Amino acid sequence: MSARIIDGKTIAADLRGKVADAVHRLRRDRGVVPGIAVVLVGNNLASEVYVRNKSKAVAESGMRAFDCKLPATTSEAELIDLVMQLNADEEVSGILVQLPLPKQIDAQKIIAAIDPAKDVDGFHPLNAGRLAIGLPALVPCTPMACVLLAKTMHETLAGLEAVVIGRSNIVGKPVAQLLLAENATVTIAHSRTNDLPSVCRRADLLVAAIGRPEMVCGDWIKPGATVIDVGISRIPGESGKSRMVGDVAYAEAMQVAGAVTPVPGGVGPMTIACLLLNTLRAACAQKGLPAPTM
Ligand code: NAP
Repeated sequence: MSARIIDGKTIAADLRGKVADAVHRLRRDRGVVPGIAVVLVGNNLASEVYVRNKSKAVAESGMRAFDCKLPATTSEAELIDLVMQLNADEEVSGILVQLPLPKQIDAQKIIAAIDPAKDVDGFHPLNAGRLAIGLPALVPCTPMACVLLAKTMHETLAGLEAVVIGRSNIVGKPVAQLLLAENATVTIAHSRTNDLPSVCRRADLLVAAIGRPEMVCGDWIKPGATVIDVGISRIPGESGKSRMVGDVAYAEAMQVAGAVTPVPGGVGPMTIACLLLNTLRAACAQKGLPAPTM
C-alpha cells in the first residue's frame, strides 16, 4: 500500500489565491489594505530565510509588508518600543516578531507587548487563553495549517483518535486545542510519555511536532492513518550536502499510512498561507468588517 501525499504546496497555493482575491475586494470596496510588520532581530540564517519567504508571500497576496530589521545588539526596551509603534500604526494590521530572539531579550515580554488584535502569530496569552476556552481568537499559523491539511483528508475530524507528539506553546498545545475544538479525541504525547510507539499506533490522525529527524517509524503508525509531519531538521545527505527531513520516517510511513504530509512541501507552505489568512482576518476585525469567508 502507498499512502496519499498531502500536497501542502498546492493546498497552500489555493488558500493564498483565495486570500489574494479577498484582499483585492477589500481594497476595491472598502479602501482597506492589510499590512503586516515582520520584525527580525539579529542574523539567524534560518530566520532570515523564513522572513524573506513570508514577506514575499505577503507582497504576492496584495498586502503591504513592512520589514523591520534590527541588529543583534538590540535591547529588550528598544524592541518593546518598536512593537508599541507598530501597535499604534493604523497601516499595520499584523505584527510578527520572528523567534528565536537574541539572549538579552525575553521573548515572552515581547509577545505580551503585541496588541492581541494584531497578534497574527497567535502567541499572545490572551489569544492562547481564548483558544483554550473555545472563544474566537487569532490562532497560531502552524497548528492551523496542520488542521486544515488534515481536513483535506477527512470530511470531519469529529470522533477521530488524534495523537499529537509535542507540547510546545507554539505547535503541540495549540494543535491539540484546535483538534479538540474539531471534536477529535486528543492525546498529547511528549518526551516523558511511556511507550510512545503504542500511543501513536492508536491514532487515526498523528501529528508529529518534535524536532527529532525521522523519529516516528512505520510501525508506530496505524494502517490507513493520516500523518501530519511538522518537524523540520537538517541531516547529512549525499555528497556532503545536508537535506531537510521531518519527524517521520517518510518512506516507511508511506507504506503504512493512509496519507502523509511531505517535508518539505507539507506543513511549511501551508503555515505561510495561514499567516496571510490571519493578517486578513485581523485587518477586517480592526476595521469592524465581517470576517472574510474562504
Ligand atoms: P519544541 O519547542 O522543541 O518542542 C518539542 C516537543 O517535542 C516537546 O514538547 C518535547 O517534549 C517533545 N519531544 C522531544 N523529544 C521527544 C521524544 N524523544 N519523544 C517524545 N516527545 C519528544 O519544538 P517546536 O517549536 O514545537 O517545533 C517542533 C518541530 O516543528 C521542530 O522541528 C520545528 O522546527 C518544527 N516547526 C515547523 C514549523 C513549520 O512551519 N513547518 C513551524 C514551527 C515548528 P517535552 O515537552 O517533554 O520536552
